[in-house]
Amino acid sequence: MPTDQAPEGATSPDAKPRLSFAVPVPKGKAPRHLADLDLAGRKAVLKDAGLPAFRADQLSRHYFTRFTRDAQDMTDLPASQREQLAAELLPDLIHEVRALRADGGRTIKHLWELHDGVRVESVLMRYKDRTTLCVSSQAGCGMACPFCATGQMGLTRNLSTGEIIEQVRHAAQVSERGDLTGGPARLSNVVFMGMGEPMINYKNVVAALRRLTSPAPEGFGMSARGITVSTVGLVPLIRKLSTEGMPVTLAVSLHAPDDELRDELIPINSKWKVGELLDAAYDYYSTTGRRVSIEYALIKDMNDHAWRAQLLADELNARGRGWAHVNPIPLNPTPGSIWTCSEPDVQELFVDTLRRAGITTTVRDTRGSDIDGACGQLATEVLNQERARTRR
Ligand code: SAH
Repeated sequence: MPTDQAPEGATSPDAKPRLSFAVPVPKGKAPRHLADLDLAGRKAVLKDAGLPAFRADQLSRHYFTRFTRDAQDMTDLPASQREQLAAELLPDLIHEVRALRADGGRTIKHLWELHDGVRVESVLMRYKDRTTLCVSSQAGCGMACPFCATGQMGLTRNLSTGEIIEQVRHAAQVSERGDLTGGPARLSNVVFMGMGEPMINYKNVVAALRRLTSPAPEGFGMSARGITVSTVGLVPLIRKLSTEGMPVTLAVSLHAPDDELRDELIPINSKWKVGELLDAAYDYYSTTGRRVSIEYALIKDMNDHAWRAQLLADELNARGRGWAHVNPIPLNPTPGSIWTCSEPDVQELFVDTLRRAGITTTVRDTRGSDIDGACGQLATEVLNQERARTRR
């Protein structure tokens, strides 16, 4: 059982990560950014600063269609006002600490530092048919899942909408510029699977979803089909998300089909049980028409039994056919960790059991595992390196 094991990164054998809903108050607010506001709000800011409100439209188009925040690029704005306009609405929110390439240059992982020194990660991945960015929605996480590197950090703070959208804008720019192997690419997908629990930062995440999906000048005009919000399962907020009028894909980090095990693997299961969670997920599908993704990290000898695959299939089939697909994810282990991925034949049997029961199942590829690809691993690794350096 997971409870027999110290959590990932624990410094004492009896350490336990604690589930916490408390969101610490940040030391200072992130500077106000165009992406925090809708177009009317951006106009109001310019007007208050004594600048022409209609320029908000041009600034927004540069930002959302040309992916730039550099005043020099905005040659259709009067030269005398460019800097001031950009200074009002396009502050520098995220600074690159590290950029690591993997998978032959088709994956780039970024570690970002925010205005208050807090760090978050994002990962850009190019596939044959799409280019996907995995974004962070919080610095750290309060959900305390024992196998997740971010879960061991605790929550530092929520990200602002601007800080989330800046990760996306940067990725769109990098892709368009041709930094990924294979030449220029269009960023088509955004998944909220980086650091943090998006539902705990609901307001800023939903505003970010609006900026992603609204056409320019309001936002990037991406298809909601290409956007996935991944959650440990805050049932009331899953229900709320289905009413926002943006049919984004919901991913549920289930990782166990039975409460006995899920109580240990996903601490929030103490509040919302597997049954309630799957009911909410099914209702999300009914309301939005979007098939739900069930995420299942396969952890050796903990949750990878064929009987659990069968139980998962039964739970899904009991609610309907074809409404969910399962994404088994080979666990991305941290060096020295007791949490390891399943043996290949065990993984195969798990997948076959699901498929035989009629469940669409796709094993998640393990992009960037050589660059600490899993959630929170890069931030932890860089912090450890820096600590080692200061100790020397
Ligand atoms: N808090 C959200 C989103 C961030 S994590 C959520 O939990 O859904 C995105 C996915 O990565 C989740 O399914 C999470 O359980 C999984 N994950 C975390 N650590 C992992 C690891 N070491 N290996 C594989 N998947 C992991």
